[in-house]
Amino acid sequence: MTGSLPRYLKKAGNELIVVIPMYSFIDVCKFNVTVAVENLRVQLGKRILICNVNRSALNDNVPVYFIDYKPYFGRPGIYNDKEFGDYSDNPERFTFLSAAALSLCRELNFSPDIVHANDWHTAVLPAYLKRLYTGDPLFSNTASLLTIHNLAYQGRYNRYYYEAAGLGEEDFTPEKFECFGDVNFLKGGIHFADMVNTVSKGYAAETRTEHGGYGLDHYLRIKGDDYVGIINGADYQEWDPATDRLIPENYTAGDMTGKTLCKVRLQSDMNLVNSGNTPVIAVISRLVFQKGLYLLMECIEGILNNMEVQFAILGSGDDPLEIYFRNLQEQYPGRVGSFIGYSNELSHLIEAGSDLFLMPSLYEPCGLNQIYSLKYGTVPVVRATGGLDDTIENYDQNRGEGTGFKFVEATSKAIYGTVAWALETYTLRKPHFKKLIKNGMGKNFSWDRSAEEYVHLYERALENRKGS
Ligand code: ADP
Repeated sequence: MTGSLPRYLKKAGNELIVVIPMYSFIDVCKFNVTVAVENLRVQLGKRILICNVNRSALNDNVPVYFIDYKPYFGRPGIYNDKEFGDYSDNPERFTFLSAAALSLCRELNFSPDIVHANDWHTAVLPAYLKRLYTGDPLFSNTASLLTIHNLAYQGRYNRYYYEAAGLGEEDFTPEKFECFGDVNFLKGGIHFADMVNTVSKGYAAETRTEHGGYGLDHYLRIKGDDYVGIINGADYQEWDPATDRLIPENYTAGDMTGKTLCKVRLQSDMNLVNSGNTPVIAVISRLVFQKGLYLLMECIEGILNNMEVQFAILGSGDDPLEIYFRNLQEQYPGRVGSFIGYSNELSHLIEAGSDLFLMPSLYEPCGLNQIYSLKYGTVPVVRATGGLDDTIENYDQNRGEGTGFKFVEATSKAIYGTVAWALETYTLRKPHFKKLIKNGMGKNFSWDRSAEEYVHLYERALENRKGS
C-alpha cells in the first residue's frame, strides 16, 4: 500500500513524502538512495538520538525518506528474525521512526496537512501531534489518519515503552494507551487519530464486533462514523497478465492462449504432471494460523485422494506448516508442487498458470491475491470474511454468474466441500467456469478509486481536527 497509494495521490495533484526505516537489505544502488540529511536530532522521550536520513524516489517521483539509524534498523529482519522471533525493542524502534518522521518534517520545513500513520508501529503519531507538537506552527493544523492493516497486531508492551516514547501520565488511561497495565499503541492511536480506517468495509464491520475486535471493538465502535473501510487497490502495473514481464506468455480475456502456456511452464517448473485438463489449485501465502492453512492441512489429503487435481503451493512461515507442505510434495509426486520460501517471480507464474486460487483465511483485512487472481483468470475459492467477502461474488449455479466460490464456516469440511464444488464446475459446467473467469478478468480494483476515497478521508480528518 505504501508503495502504491502515494503514486496515485501524487497523480491526483497532492504533494507528499513517504518515510520508512532504512532497513539493511534495501538495495542502495537499485533505488538510487543518497544521503539527504546528516545528523538529524530526534527527541524520543528524555533521549536525543542522532540519525541520517537518506532519500530515493518511487517511479513517479514521490520522495521516499529512509530513517538511517543502524542500532535500530541495521538488522537482517523487519520485525523479527527467524531464529529468535520478534525484536524485543520493537516499540522503541518504531516510536523512534515516528518521532524521526516529525523531526524530518521540521528539517525539510515540510508542513503536512495530513500525517497518515499505519498500524501500531506508527500509531503514536496522532498523539505526538496533539500532545507534543501543538505549539509548533509547522503542525498547528496537521490532522491524522490511522490505517489498521491487521487488528491482531496491536503493539502491546510493558508500560516502560510508553514512558520511553515521551508521552504523559494523563494519557495512560484505559480509554487511551493503557491496557491491563501495559501500553497498547494501536489503542492510543485509535483514540487520538482524527480518522481511522481499515482496508475493507467487511473488515471494518467485523472488527466492530466482539468476535473480530481483538479486545478493541469497543474503542472502534465509539469512533462511530470516524472509523471506515477502504479496500486496497491492486497495482496493475505489476499485476496484469497482458503486460506482466515475469510470466512466460502474456494473455488477455479475449485471447487466453498465453494462460495455457503459463500452465505448461508452471507444471514443468513445479514438477507437476504435464496435463492441461487437470485443474491446478494455487496457494500463495504466509504460512500462519490466520490464513486457515491448519484447516487445509486437515483436508488436503482427502482432496488429493478423492479428486482429480494438482496443487501449486508457495509460502513461508510457521515450522509445522512449512514442514507439512514441503513433505506433501514427496507424498504426492507430480500432484503437489511446493516451494517453501519467498519468490515474487514464482508467485506471478503461479497466478498465471493455475486454474483456481484458494484462500481459506480465518480473517482477512483485505487480501491481495484474490484480487490478482481475478485479473489472471484464476478463479478464487475463498472464505467469506473481510476483504475476501467484499471482493468476490459467489458463483450462482442457476444463472452461471459470479466471480468465485465462497464458504462461510471456518472448517476443513467447508474447504473440502467448496473445492469439490469448484472442481465439479471446472469439469462439468465448462461454460459457467469460463463465465466466472471472464467476469473476474473484467473487474477493476485499481488504486484510482481507493486513492479518491483516501483523499475524502483526509478531508474529513481535517474537518475533525478543526472541530477538536
Ligand atoms: P498478508 O498481508 O496478510 O500477508 P495479503 O494477501 O494482503 O496478505 O498480501 C500478501 C502478499 O504477499 C500477496 O501479494 C502475496 O502474493 C505475497 N506473498 C505472500 N507470501 C509470499 C511468498 N512466499 N512468496 C511470494 N509472495 C508472497
